[in-house]
Amino acid sequence: KLNFHPAGRHFLQIPGPSPVPDRILRAMSYPTIDHRGPEFGALGLQVLEGIKKIFKTEQPVIIYPASGTGAWEAALSNTLSPGDTVLMYETGHFATLWKKMAEALGLKPEFLGLPGIEGWRRGVQADLIEERLRADKGHVIKAVCVVHNETSTGVTSNIAAVRKAIDAAGHPALLLVDTISGLASADYQHDAWGVDVTVSGSQKGLMLPPGISFNAVSKKALEASKSAKLPRAFWDWTDIIEMNKTGYWPYTPNTNLLYGLVEALDMILGEGLDNVFARHKRLAAACREAVKAWGLEVQCADPEVYSPVLTGVMTPEGFDADAIRKTIYENYDMSLGTGLGKLKGRMFRIGHLGEANDLTLMATLAGCEMGLKLAGVPLAGSGVAAAMQYLTTHKARQQ
Ligand code: PLP
Repeated sequence: KLNFHPAGRHFLQIPGPSPVPDRILRAMSYPTIDHRGPEFGALGLQVLEGIKKIFKTEQPVIIYPASGTGAWEAALSNTLSPGDTVLMYETGHFATLWKKMAEALGLKPEFLGLPGIEGWRRGVQADLIEERLRADKGHVIKAVCVVHNETSTGVTSNIAAVRKAIDAAGHPALLLVDTISGLASADYQHDAWGVDVTVSGSQKGLMLPPGISFNAVSKKALEASKSAKLPRAFWDWTDIIEMNKTGYWPYTPNTNLLYGLVEALDMILGEGLDNVFARHKRLAAACREAVKAWGLEVQCADPEVYSPVLTGVMTPEGFDADAIRKTIYENYDMSLGTGLGKLKGRMFRIGHLGEANDLTLMATLAGCEMGLKLAGVPLAGSGVAAAMQYLTTHKARQQ
């Protein structure tokens, strides 16, 4: 069995890392160059300018050679001081991990959200944030932290509504947003939504391998960083922003991932951001049609905030979602996302992000449907047929 490889390509249908397009893989195979040499500066400036278009910002975007978790830490440690209170909203597992990090860094997170599992089925309730901030007359809360696309549940929260809530309360707290799995798949507007720090990563909508992550930074966040006292060295924005002016970094950047980023930007901006978002929305809608036809439930309970990136599928009582995933992996060489945290064993996640198209979605749903049948899950009907019906009656938008 040692040399056994299943025929064909592996279906990597987890909600990130997403499949890396051949074009990006090829670009990353170019020889690594001197990161202090003359060619590098041009590459650096190209990616630093290009990435701003994806975040929809005119402000600096910092690129770290780190996974998203590193960029989470950078966002907190550059803007806050030991003992600061931060209001963090519980949307799911990733919001919970970010809160744990805040505790570990010596911050005082207040975790706000709907009780029990309900908060893991709905988006951020901006009115709860407004209410809490109104009660904070002394402005003890220094930052509001929310996850835009909660990858553990498949819920995409309304960030503009959070901004409105902070403004309505007349509160000076910074707004820090994690769109690690949302960027370049779901609409995101760093400047227009008044976000102070946006955190993102490479391995989702940007279609790159894991390994680089981002902080988009507002003027207000930069100002806050001057007096923020949390210890930081590697993550410190100051030297990076200074050296980035000429396209360089104070340390050795992840050169080959930056080659990949040039390619990803070309692909995404070439397709057009609005077309990319529309494609994701349409595929997500088709995926939900499939889930409905199977007679299963989508984890997200509010149609207003369905994620265009992934769909969480709840399995019926008595069927372990991870056992179903294992059946699908072993029989069809397809990886689906596991249930995380409170949802372990209760759901699996279908990723439909990055370069996903009609046929990759259909193959994915076929793998799910066959696997569900093999696992003995009683299905109400064919999800594959329902998704095909949706896709053939809802034309792809092209500009
Ligand atoms: N936040 C969200 C919403 C995520 O989806 C992830 C990873 O999946 C992370 C944070 C952590 O990022 P990383 O695993 O790249 O460190």
